[in-house]
Amino acid sequence: MANKDTTDPARMEKIVSLCKRRGFIFQAGELYGGLNGCWDYGPLGAELKRNLKDYWWRKTVQERDDVLGMDGAILTMEQVLVSSGHVGGFSDPMVDCKTCKARFRADNLETSPCKEKPSVCAGQSPKCELTEPRDFNLMLQTNFGATGDQIAYLRPETAQSIFCQYKNVLDSNRVKIPFGIAQIGKAFRNEINPRNFTFRSREFEQMEIEYFCHPDDGMRLTDEWLEERLKFYGEIGIPREKLHILDVPDGERAFYSKKTYDIEYEFPFGIQELEGVAYRTNYDLGVHEKGAGKSLVYFDEETKEKYLPHVVEPSAGCDRTVLALLCEAFDEETLTDEKGKEDVRTVLRFVPRMAPIKVGIFPLLKKNEEQVRICRSIQKSLQPWMTVFYDDGGAVGRRYRRQDEVGTPFCVTVDFDTLGENGDALKDTVTVRHRDSMEQERIAIDALPPWLLERVR
Ligand code: ATP
Repeated sequence: MANKDTTDPARMEKIVSLCKRRGFIFQAGELYGGLNGCWDYGPLGAELKRNLKDYWWRKTVQERDDVLGMDGAILTMEQVLVSSGHVGGFSDPMVDCKTCKARFRADNLETSPCKEKPSVCAGQSPKCELTEPRDFNLMLQTNFGATGDQIAYLRPETAQSIFCQYKNVLDSNRVKIPFGIAQIGKAFRNEINPRNFTFRSREFEQMEIEYFCHPDDGMRLTDEWLEERLKFYGEIGIPREKLHILDVPDGERAFYSKKTYDIEYEFPFGIQELEGVAYRTNYDLGVHEKGAGKSLVYFDEETKEKYLPHVVEPSAGCDRTVLALLCEAFDEETLTDEKGKEDVRTVLRFVPRMAPIKVGIFPLLKKNEEQVRICRSIQKSLQPWMTVFYDDGGAVGRRYRRQDEVGTPFCVTVDFDTLGENGDALKDTVTVRHRDSMEQERIAIDALPPWLLERVR
């Protein structure tokens, strides 16, 4: 087991700086000084996030027969969140420091830098004067309706709309238990100390599945979903050895949960949660049945059994996974040229299916009209299938490096061989250069789309 306290702030700083420099992630409202805990994804970040969400949807909904998708409202009725327990109890323990007026999460003091003296943690300087912990509700409330006298909340998780629509989905889709409902969407929490870049934000996205099942199957399905989710992380490029499974012990789980696994990743700032896989029993449907006064009981036509379905919930954070992808992909490789000169190459080693740009397309000489024409035509033929980037600025070596830095797995160069200037054998072929090995091979232009598609899906 890796040490939970192993951190590498220098590596994290480089990742944050690359994210800004190359347009992955910016602080929201930066122009005006920044909105704490909120982030904007720039062009490459938006592609990366979209690739993650699309792949999750494909694996969870499209390629399964037993999971349906939905897309619920962000604004949530007060009554829904009263029933779910969020209005009364969705809180973290908070302490105030009377000296510096800062607020901290009481359960994170040992990792929260003191505002006055960041070299020590909150409470550790003799000047610190911390209050007793108090509950701080994390929900963001808004006023609603023409007169603004109704209360609504920005949802703190996507799950509640799934529970509330469980019966509508069941009745309108002729599905049978076991089945799941999946959703990707924004959630909002007024976190006391947003930090570690996008890891703990006030606005973030979740990818959640509520899998409804017979009470006898809950425990088994929790283990099956855990395996399913670990497989998913492998497929997006997060190796199993960097993931840790925390079997949350009795007393630390939510009171209604019979089993909870936290899937954690070795971030440069420590081992932290990426996803929770929780067996929530029939707690959720139970509270909404009671709160709404309507039956949510399921009738099994075959066994003639009536029961309130149990739920297994794999709940992943989209932004946290994007951050894990960036941390995992970031690499600095020392290269030595023929003259023995050393140089550091920055590479994002994304698996191709996650890479924001799949292929860079370069004419060897930007002044050669024929090379440019062929590049543009290759670009057009690939654009319906994948993100491509045309670049004719500077030496080809430099262009490769720029693509390495944003994780583009393949670069295509059109050169004099493509034009047939060195014989017919290489006419209408291009050089494909591989990001990780930097090796090059010749491929016929016609063969390029299927060759690439096979590697980037
Ligand atoms: P934590 O203990 O880190 O606050 P949590 O256990 O409260 O997280 P859940 O309520 O289980 O989180 O939410 C499911 C997932 O949503 C988390 O595993 C995480 O990936 C994501 N998530 C939760 N809170 C945040 C946040 N403030 N910023 C970004 N992602 C979040």
